[in-house]
Amino acid sequence: MTKNIRNFCIIAHIDHGKSTLADRFLEITNTIPLSKMHSQFLDQNPISRERGITIKLAPVKMNYQNYTLNLIDTPGHVDFSYEVSRTLKAVEGAILLVDAVSGIQAQTLSHLQKAQDQNLTIIPVINKIDLPSAQIDLITKSLQDLGFAKSEIHLISAKTGQNVQKLLDDIISKISPPNSDSRKPFRAFIFDSLYHPHLGAIAFIKILDGSIDFDPQSPPQLNLLATKAQASVKQIGYLTPSLTPAQTLSAGQIGYIATGLKDLSKVRVGDTITKKGQKNISPVPGFKIPNPVVYMGLYPIDNKDFPTLKESLEKLSLNDSSLTFNPETISYLGPGFRCGFLGLLHAEITKERLENEYNLELIYTSPQVDYLIELTDRKINIANPDKIPENYLSISQPMIKLNIITPTNYLGSIMTLLVSKNLDLLETANLNDKVRLVYKAPLTLLLGNFYNQLKSITSGFASLDWQFADYQKFNAQLLNILINNQKIESLSYLFDQSQVEKYAKILIDKLKETVPRQNFELKIQAAVGSKIIASTRISPFRKDVTAKLYGGDRTRKDKLLNAQKKGKKRLKQIGKIQIPQEAFLAVSKI
Ligand code: GDP
Ligand code: MG
Repeated sequence: MTKNIRNFCIIAHIDHGKSTLADRFLEITNTIPLSKMHSQFLDQNPISRERGITIKLAPVKMNYQNYTLNLIDTPGHVDFSYEVSRTLKAVEGAILLVDAVSGIQAQTLSHLQKAQDQNLTIIPVINKIDLPSAQIDLITKSLQDLGFAKSEIHLISAKTGQNVQKLLDDIISKISPPNSDSRKPFRAFIFDSLYHPHLGAIAFIKILDGSIDFDPQSPPQLNLLATKAQASVKQIGYLTPSLTPAQTLSAGQIGYIATGLKDLSKVRVGDTITKKGQKNISPVPGFKIPNPVVYMGLYPIDNKDFPTLKESLEKLSLNDSSLTFNPETISYLGPGFRCGFLGLLHAEITKERLENEYNLELIYTSPQVDYLIELTDRKINIANPDKIPENYLSISQPMIKLNIITPTNYLGSIMTLLVSKNLDLLETANLNDKVRLVYKAPLTLLLGNFYNQLKSITSGFASLDWQFADYQKFNAQLLNILINNQKIESLSYLFDQSQVEKYAKILIDKLKETVPRQNFELKIQAAVGSKIIASTRISPFRKDVTAKLYGGDRTRKDKLLNAQKKGKKRLKQIGKIQIPQEAFLAVSKI
């Protein structure tokens, strides 16, 4: 019976209160006993909890009155926008949650657009009305401008629970039950997956049609249409949000299927599952494997840790099929991996996990994009400027559509910033007290200091969102960094010819701030080919660092030496020169 099922999700810009609202739903429906409740309950990943952001979506089945409510909390961050779009395909309705203080933001609009593309029923909600600075009238007006009626907008506080029950009742009355047919052959849609040590790859699924029964004597045999994998089911069940085994999953329900497959990449988000022997079942359209967007080199400080790094990356990728890694050796950094990520947050989270969960000490290079290199006989993608062959015909870089939403009063400063970056304005639109600007920009823009600059000139009020646009040829110049005439591999970058000189100067200055003094002079140069276009010097120490302590106070001296030793951990020795971690990231500060 699908008529008592409601499948929905919460979409919002980051920090607008999705996870907190989910907590209230869990309480009202008694899904989680109060004694076990803690805030942001669905953010199960420890890093998710620490940072207060949802990086892994967590579906939960709730029973309320006679209804089954399946809620999927979504990761709001742009790195995970493919996951959000898949989640939207698994539900019939969405709560559009808007923070009463910060209002409509870039991701509010991009998620709303995706939800409208799926024809979902959308319930607009203004959250955090308990805050004294809540601007309820203004945000109501903005939502009206987006096409919602004033009467359908809910005003709630996810924190205090005010009006949350009414919202839950509206979910039942407004969102339609799933349009699934229990008599049709079995077909399920994967919107997330997870690796379990005993059950293998687990698919989080929506049953589109038919049903599945689990009999351990003769477990169902399944086909996954896109990856062409076959699986013998190990378990099926519901997410409450922990895995709760069941005998049957019927049409319209959301649950999980444990496939026993040892390789998570066979169970891809967006794929369709059918039963073995069923013919002519059409897959759900729109399946894709999300490509990495940024790349970083990761190198253990101690070369002996290379096998541990390899093992750790293999373990992490068991549960994260979007993480890619290929071995790469740089002379002075030793063996490491060039890793591909969905975005900077994804990279940051992975790095933190390697350091915290696997106790690795790493040097990492600044994030890079992959360039499309045209050679005489073929095109190749290369994400490391050091590895670009000399005989290329052209170099193209990934371009994005950058959406910025800002309060009107910052419009002037934003435009000045973007003009200084030579970007093309594609579109503008008025949103009540805010403006939406759409620019075309190289993806590398986001890897530098741009986001911080934008936040700082708008006192944090502007937000941005982006989508990949295309690859575009540019007049690429390879900038190399030399220290005392030695080229430092992995400090090479591609810049547009028109800007290479400007950036070379800034980069050299940033490097000067990060490379420690030695007891001999250091010469830092930026070169294009054999031409030096910027240079600077770091003068040597005059005295021993401890000399100023007059050798008197032993403990102070030890402390200073220890502090120095600690600082040394995060650096690499090239001959006599020490390159600290910050130097590899200097380019992201420009
Ligand atoms: P998410 O990123 O959308 O999942 O947002 P969270 O649920 O993690 O909430 C972000 C922050 O806003 C947290 O510090 C919450 O405590 C706070 N918050 C959420 N809802 C409310 C609310 O209704 N009132 C107030 N005052 N704070 C809220
Ligand atoms: Mg959250």
